[in-house]
Amino acid sequence: MSLYGFNGKSTNKRVGLDLIRFTPGGISRSELARQLNLTRAAVTTIINDFIDDGLVRETGKGPTTGRRRPILLEINPQRGYLVGVDLGATHLSLLVTDFAAHVVNELETPFDIRRNPEECLQKVDGALSETLAKAQLRLEDMTAIGVGVPGPVEAAAGKVIAPPIMPGWHNYPIRSVLQERWGRPVSLNNDAELGALGEWAQGAGRAERYLAYIKVGTGIGAGMLLDGKIYRGVSGCAGEIGHIAIRDNGPLCACGSHGCLEALAGGSAIAAKAAAAVKSGKRTQLASLGSAGEITAMSVAHAARLGDLVAQQIIVEAGGYLGIAIASLINLFNPSMVVIGGGVAQIGDLLLNPIRQVVGERSLRSAAQAVRISAAVLGRRSTSMGAVVQALNLALDEMTAN
Ligand SMILES: [Zn+2]
Repeated sequence: MSLYGFNGKSTNKRVGLDLIRFTPGGISRSELARQLNLTRAAVTTIINDFIDDGLVRETGKGPTTGRRRPILLEINPQRGYLVGVDLGATHLSLLVTDFAAHVVNELETPFDIRRNPEECLQKVDGALSETLAKAQLRLEDMTAIGVGVPGPVEAAAGKVIAPPIMPGWHNYPIRSVLQERWGRPVSLNNDAELGALGEWAQGAGRAERYLAYIKVGTGIGAGMLLDGKIYRGVSGCAGEIGHIAIRDNGPLCACGSHGCLEALAGGSAIAAKAAAAVKSGKRTQLASLGSAGEITAMSVAHAARLGDLVAQQIIVEAGGYLGIAIASLINLFNPSMVVIGGGVAQIGDLLLNPIRQVVGERSLRSAAQAVRISAAVLGRRSTSMGAVVQALNLALDEMTAN
C-alpha cells in the first residue's frame, strides 16, 4: 500500500481506507496516524468523516499498548452491497456480499464462453437477477459490480484483446455494455488477477507482499500482486503463463502456438488425455462416463481422488508441466507465495506435490526456499471474491475522489 505516490488529502483517505480494510483484526487511530505519517488530529478528522458517512465503524478494543486499549476501526459491513462475477470458460459464478465481503448469496451455473458476447451477458444478467431475488435485494442496492474474464484485459478500455479461449469477444466493450445495462459502476479484470486479489484479501495469501496466483482451469493464467496491487504489464498481458512454451513441437494451443503449458496441462488437455486413455482400452473408471466428450478435467480430478490410477497419472503429469512453468515464474518474480487455484486445483496435494518437486529441482535455491506453494483457500470462490474486492476498490475510489 505504499505505491500511491503522492500525498493529497483524498489519497490519504483512500490509503487509510485500505489500511482499515486489510489490516487483520482492525487498526487503531494512532496506528493509522503512524502509517499515514499524519498527526493524530488529521486522522481524527478523516475518520470522523468516514463514521458520519457510515463507511467505517468502531469495533472492539485492541491489545493494551501501555496506558489503555485503543479502539479499533473496521469497514461498516452494512454500508452497501457488492457483486463479484466470475465468467469462466465453462462455468459462471456470482457472489453477492456486504461491504466486509461476507457472502449474502451466491450462484454457480454451467456456462459456455465461446458463445457470442450478447448471449453470454444475457445469461449473466439473468443469473444476477435470480441471485438478487433470492437475497431479496434490488440492483439499486448494489454499490458496484466486479467482473472477471478468462482473457487479457485492457483495464482502461474495459475489454479483452485477442483472448485465446474467448475469440468472439475481441474488442467487445464488456464493461460499458454491463454498466449501461445495470446502471451501476462495473470493473473488469482478468480472472487470474482477481484470483490473486481474492486470495490476498480473504484467503491463503493474506498480506503477502509478493503473491502469484495460478489459475488452472480450461485455460491457465497467473495473477501477480505487488503490495496488494495487481501487476499487469504495459498491455494487460503480464502473467499469461499458460502460453509459456514447454515442449518443442508439442500439441497445438488455442493461441496458435505449439507446446504451450495450457496445451499440455490445461483443462482441455487433461480431458483429451483421459479420453485417449479410455479409447486405448486402459483400465479406468473414466470409461464408465460413456463417450469421450463427457469426460472433463473435473471428472478426471474426481476419479483421481477416488484412487483411479490412470486419472492420477494424468494429474501428476499436468503437475509436472505446471512445475516447469512455475519454476520459471519463481526465478523471474521471486514471490513469497504461490497459490494454485481453479477447478482442477481443488484436488490438492496430488497436483501440488509434483509442482513442488519440480520447483525444488528447477528454481534457484534462494528463490525456492523463500516461496510457499499452497492451494487456494477460497477454492472456487477465489476469482469471484477478487471481483468483490475490486468492486469495493472502485466504489471507494469514487467515494474519496474529492
Ligand atoms: Zn498458447
